[in-house]
Amino acid sequence: MSTARAYAVSSATAAFGPLAIERRSPGPTDVQFDIKYCGVCHSDLHTARGEWAGTVYPCVPGHELVGIVTAVGAEVTRFAVGDRVGVGCMVDACRTCDSCQAGLEQYCDKRGTVYTYNSPDKHQLGKPTYGGYSSHVVVDQAFVLRIPSNLDLAAAAPLLCAGITTYSPLRHWGVTEGSRVGVVGLGGLGHMALKLAKAFGAHTTLFTTSPGKVEDARRLGADAVVISKDAAAMKAAGGGFDVIVNTVSTAHNLDPYINLLGRDGALVMLGAPPTPHPSPNTGALIGRRRSIAGSLIGGIAETQEMLDFCGVHGIVSDIEQISVQKLDEAYERMLKSDVKYRFVIDLATLGA
Ligand code: NAP
Ligand code: ZN
Ligand code: ZN
Repeated sequence: MSTARAYAVSSATAAFGPLAIERRSPGPTDVQFDIKYCGVCHSDLHTARGEWAGTVYPCVPGHELVGIVTAVGAEVTRFAVGDRVGVGCMVDACRTCDSCQAGLEQYCDKRGTVYTYNSPDKHQLGKPTYGGYSSHVVVDQAFVLRIPSNLDLAAAAPLLCAGITTYSPLRHWGVTEGSRVGVVGLGGLGHMALKLAKAFGAHTTLFTTSPGKVEDARRLGADAVVISKDAAAMKAAGGGFDVIVNTVSTAHNLDPYINLLGRDGALVMLGAPPTPHPSPNTGALIGRRRSIAGSLIGGIAETQEMLDFCGVHGIVSDIEQISVQKLDEAYERMLKSDVKYRFVIDLATLGA
């Protein structure tokens, strides 16, 4: 066992503060690493503030961890001390069911996915897993990713959730050269969706509620930008979208986006608001064989594929580095859609 320094909330309404947590000693297949940076995902906020059911307090969020390996178990073959590594949203799964065998551990048929935080910890019974707002972590090598050497470590952290969560559906729905892709919401997920869709050769349109983000959206890869609150602009956006990925973190009317899909187009829901969206107009689905779908992060093999793709194309997140002491402020700014475009914690600010 070792003691890690962490930042935690003790209730849904509490501010973040320091907490000492236990990490297991590395077992034969475990990798221990010092967390250098951790991205701040809107899912961290939903969880910390109890917006989804089932948060166990104290809660240490964080599922975009990157750092440097400090110890490996005797049977670890894939990693060595000094390696640049990352961990995303999962630290384990059943590993035997059809989904796990297919590399889709996030959809484990036995609901055996162990999330990086707020999941029952198999190794410390009765405790939840504690995430990346902390000094170090111990994770089985099967759930540890390699960070390409050319990518800035801090800016690569958000690839572990925002990157894979957008990469996986763009691939699954066959986005390629010339596809017409819409992205709803320019935050952590949205800006990665733009960069990745552009790298796949798609024609990209961003739908945003923030007129102040238009310039940035173009720089990040949007061929067109539509202010979604402007009905005339929405109409002028045309139609015929193959895929629209929706990253909005609150409930909203989906019909305007359904209406922009072409025949067989898909509106892929990535945002996970605490309350349901208003019921969509299914007539608009029927008439053009359109679908509404959802997608959850991505499997471990696909996460490594995404990281390697980002290495080849030099893709990282646009980040604003913060100290752990600024987490509450960062959460408030996230709620105001004022993220450019991912907060990343510098864990050196945890202090001794
Ligand atoms: P984020 O950085 O806060 O971005 C969300 C964006 O949504 C905002 O920047 C804003 O963009 C837009 N938005 C916010 N409130 C809105 C409203 N009332 N109406 C319309 N648009 C609004 O959040 P994120 O980290 O990207 O996460 C987004 C959502 O995805 C969260 O619900 C999160 O839990 C979920 N998530 C899901 C998965 C998955 O596996 N499916 C993985 C990670 C996160 P504009 O200013 O451009 O409008
Ligand atoms: Zn996330
Ligand atoms: Zn499984």
